[in-house]
Amino acid sequence: MKFNTKTIHAGQQPEETSGAVMPPIFQTSTYAQQAPNVNKGYDYARVGNPTRTALEKLIAGLEDADQCACFASGCAAIDAVLKMFRPDDHIIASNDLYGGTYRLFTQVFEPMGIDFSFVDMTSLSEVEQAQTDNTKLLWIETPTNPLLRIVDIEALTNFAREHEILSVVDNTFASPYLQRPLTLGSDMVLHSTTKYLGGHSDVIGGAVATSDEEVMEKLRFQVKTTGAVPGPMDCYLTLRGIKTLSVRMRQSVENAKEIASFLQDHPQVDQTIYPGLRSHKQHDIAKKQMDDFGAMISFSLKDDSQEKAHNFMSQTSIFTLAESLGGVESLISHPASMTHASIPREVREKAGLKDSLIRLSVGIEDAEDLIEDLAQAFG
Ligand SMILES: *Cc1c(COP(=O)(O)O)cnc(C)c1O
Repeated sequence: MKFNTKTIHAGQQPEETSGAVMPPIFQTSTYAQQAPNVNKGYDYARVGNPTRTALEKLIAGLEDADQCACFASGCAAIDAVLKMFRPDDHIIASNDLYGGTYRLFTQVFEPMGIDFSFVDMTSLSEVEQAQTDNTKLLWIETPTNPLLRIVDIEALTNFAREHEILSVVDNTFASPYLQRPLTLGSDMVLHSTTKYLGGHSDVIGGAVATSDEEVMEKLRFQVKTTGAVPGPMDCYLTLRGIKTLSVRMRQSVENAKEIASFLQDHPQVDQTIYPGLRSHKQHDIAKKQMDDFGAMISFSLKDDSQEKAHNFMSQTSIFTLAESLGGVESLISHPASMTHASIPREVREKAGLKDSLIRLSVGIEDAEDLIEDLAQAFG
């Protein structure tokens, strides 16, 4: 089955008792047993729920994985992956990382004895230098946030496999429509389904997909034992969102390309960061591992100050000022004062995150309206 067909049909069969074409919302906490421990595959809803199973099969299908486990949020999915490790285990992660992931690593798992190195993963040699005898996991995120750097998944996962290190790719920014990390050699792929998979900014969720039986067993143990599971209604909303993933992504990416070229030519713009631009440092890697270049754009102003960025953002009316991404509506945000405010200014500057950097999540509106909205905000 090809990708677009999978978004509608993977793991989805008409429901057995009624023939309902859409997966029902199984709003139940427990299931009748025929005899002690004889059941129809479900015994208690923390462990499993048919609406959740439908979503898990669908995401596994999209990511070319054997299995998938769904969680209450992207952060809960990250938490479950990290709990496979033990004190003194060492994890190498990207230094341009989703803020919530960084907080979970440094404020929850580091105090519990797991060691982390944060490196520039666009450089294989930096990853090699960080490796120790205890390195157990490579945590890859690509495109990165908010600088939209592209990490070479194949190169890094080859390195990981050679050294018997597990690898995971946080695929939230690309979505499986654009990038399927398991086919590039990664052991696990993780999502905040809150973003492109859900697609309508109306539900929080997370998922990890893998074809590694042993890894999935550990994840299922976490699901059952720690219980950070999504409710059936949330699974239903995510299932419904995924049905239009392809058409939404196609429109968002087309819009993003037009906006990126508009920004690139604008006299008040210093730098436009979009993996689809030839000027992007890892444009060739993006071309190699992604089917298209995504719908996230970052840009900085020639007049580089937080005040100028704030002024700009107060002038847009279609682009809504908000954190998050991946919905049908276009959003605008200011990383230096919003998502990345806790990072000291010198550290931000060194990483290339300028005071005036503005991040766009491009939605599915008409490109002309979006460009007009940005054009008038420049004044
Ligand atoms: C949003 C996000 C997360 C966290 O997901 P939640 O669903 O908000 O818990 C993790 N990684 C990336 C890249 C994200 O954008």
